[in-house]
Amino acid sequence: MNGTILVADDSMVVRAVLRRQLEADGHTVIEAVDGEEAITACREYCPDVVLLDVEMPVLDGHATLERLKADPDLKDIPVVFLTGRVDTADVVTGLRLGAHDYLRKPFEANELMARVSAALRTKELQDELRRRNAELDRVSRIDMLTNIYNRRHLDEHLRRAISGARRHGRTVGVLLVDIDHFKDVNDQYGHLAGDAVLKEVAARLQGAMRTEDALGRWGGEEFIAVLTDTPGESIGVLAERMRQAIASTPFVLADGTRIRVTVSIGHTAGTEDAEVLVHRSDDALYVAKEAGRNQVAAA
Ligand code: GH3
Ligand code: MG
Ligand code: MG
Ligand code: MG
Repeated sequence: MNGTILVADDSMVVRAVLRRQLEADGHTVIEAVDGEEAITACREYCPDVVLLDVEMPVLDGHATLERLKADPDLKDIPVVFLTGRVDTADVVTGLRLGAHDYLRKPFEANELMARVSAALRTKELQDELRRRNAELDRVSRIDMLTNIYNRRHLDEHLRRAISGARRHGRTVGVLLVDIDHFKDVNDQYGHLAGDAVLKEVAARLQGAMRTEDALGRWGGEEFIAVLTDTPGESIGVLAERMRQAIASTPFVLADGTRIRVTVSIGHTAGTEDAEVLVHRSDDALYVAKEAGRNQVAAA
């Protein structure tokens, strides 16, 4: 397994020896002459392993390690200490600070390679874990049927949007979209046809929105859109565009049947708590339903 190895040591001789041995083994080597440079190089090159000398000018190895471990972007890079001392104080301190391993100078090529390989394996496993976690996080925010965000994500997004809006003196727009008489679609054409309609409604709503705004499935046949940085009039315009995106073109079912689907939309804007904004949109939605459906109502 090859990787990018940062060699941080103030001795040119040590750097040269390490470079030669590591490159002979197929690794890419970056050099730093002190701790400050090592940290900068970590940011710039994201090395897979850092070989860190303990005794260096400007910022010594221990202080460098502390800084690396305190930085969320850098803390997972395995650090292998290079120590010249025979006593164990350096080693103990280094390991306590979170070093992955250590090497005593002068080191043998075999031992160097073995320790670098072990550190690389650790890094590889960590990267894999991070990728899987990111994928799990993504999946846990997507609605399986419609492939748009789910309630969990939209709820978090709405809360973040509200605190951001409060800081910047803006408002957040909330639209609740509910399919009209959706129960009839299921009853008449079956649950699978109902599912297909839900997917198509989600896609059409998404198509009517700007990319910076978020759309999610709020419940069974209810959708929510959260708009940031949108003036009040524009929210009504968007709501109307969404209504038309559904009502203007019939839905074609798998068997070719064309059906008319409509939605009712309630919307509001403000900086109150999420529950308050959602509740107010829901009240407006109720008004739109009572007024005959296939329409938009502002709170
Ligand atoms: P209204 O105009 O008042 O909103 O009437 P409605 O029939 O749309 O409202 P109601 O709340 O009575 O019914 C909602 C229906 O949505 C009932 C439920 O079976 C259906 N539904 C909810 N989730 C799904 C789903 O994932 N797939 C399908 N096919 N139907 C769903
Ligand atoms: Mg040194
Ligand atoms: Mg409903
Ligand atoms: Mg409904």
